Amino acid sequence: MAFYLYIFRCADGSYYTGHSDDLDRRVHEHHAGSIPGCYTHDRRPLVLVHVQEFGSREDALAAEIQVKRWSRAKKEALIARDRDALRILARAKGAGESVHGSTGSPRTELTGGSTGSPRTELTGGSTGSPRTCGLDDDHWMRHALKLALRAQAEGEVPVGAVLVMDGEVVGEGWNRNIVLNDPSAHAEILALRDAGARLANYRFPGVTLYATLEPCAMCAMALVHARVARVVFAADDPKTGAAGSVFDTLVSERHNHRVDVARGLLANESATLLREFFRARR
Ligand SMILES: [Zn+2]
Repeated sequence: MAFYLYIFRCADGSYYTGHSDDLDRRVHEHHAGSIPGCYTHDRRPLVLVHVQEFGSREDALAAEIQVKRWSRAKKEALIARDRDALRILARAKGAGESVHGSTGSPRTELTGGSTGSPRTELTGGSTGSPRTCGLDDDHWMRHALKLALRAQAEGEVPVGAVLVMDGEVVGEGWNRNIVLNDPSAHAEILALRDAGARLANYRFPGVTLYATLEPCAMCAMALVHARVARVVFAADDPKTGAAGSVFDTLVSERHNHRVDVARGLLANESATLLREFFRARR
C-alpha cells in the first residue's frame, strides 16, 4: 500500500498539507468540505498542487510534519519542484530544516532528484486522480512472463516474478522447486532473495512485485514481511491463491502493513502458458 503526502492551495492563497493512504477519498472529502473542523473547510475551493508517494505511513507522516514547518517560499519551491531554490532555502534555514529522510530511499527525499514514479507526480491544477493506470505495468508484466518462460525451459511450472523500484528491476525470480530441491523456491521468493542481495536490505518499501500467477500463502506472507508496496499479478490461482482466491493472506486487513493489490493484467497470456505446460506434461 502506498501513502501520499499532499498539498492543497486554498482559495485564500494559504497551503494545507496532509497525508493519506486513500488519496482519492481524502481529496474528495476536502473538496466536499466533509472533514469536520478541517482548516480547508472555509477556504474552499481548493487546488491540489502537490502529491508525493511514500512506502510507509511513517515516511509520509514525517514528510507532512516537515513540510508543515516550512516557510511559504520553501513550500512553493517544493510544489514547483525547484530543487535549486529548495537547496538554498534549506541552507539559509540551517540543518533543522534540511532534507528529511535517512533511509536512503529516493521516495523519502523531498528534494531528491527522482521523487517517485511519474504516475504520482501532480504539480498542475488538476483535481483528478493522480493514479492513472501505468503503462509500465504492462511492460513489467511482460517481463515477468519472460521469466516464466525460463522456468518452463527448466521443466518447472511456468511462473515468473519481477520486483521493480522507480522504473528499475531490483529482483527477478522464476519457479525453481525441482532444480533447487526446494519447496520454497517459488518465483516470488527467489525475486525477494535477489532483491535482498542487490539492495542489501530485507525490506523493500516502494517496490512493486509483478507476478504471472496469484501468490500462494507462503509468498504472500513473505511479501508482507518484505513491506512490498504493491503487487500486480496476472492469472488467478483457484487452488492456492492467497490474494482472495483461496486465502486472503495478501489482502488481510489484520496485517500491520497493507499491500496494494491489482489482479488480472495479461491474465490470458499467463493462463495459456500454464495450461499448455500442464497439457504437455500429461
Ligand atoms: Zn508461492
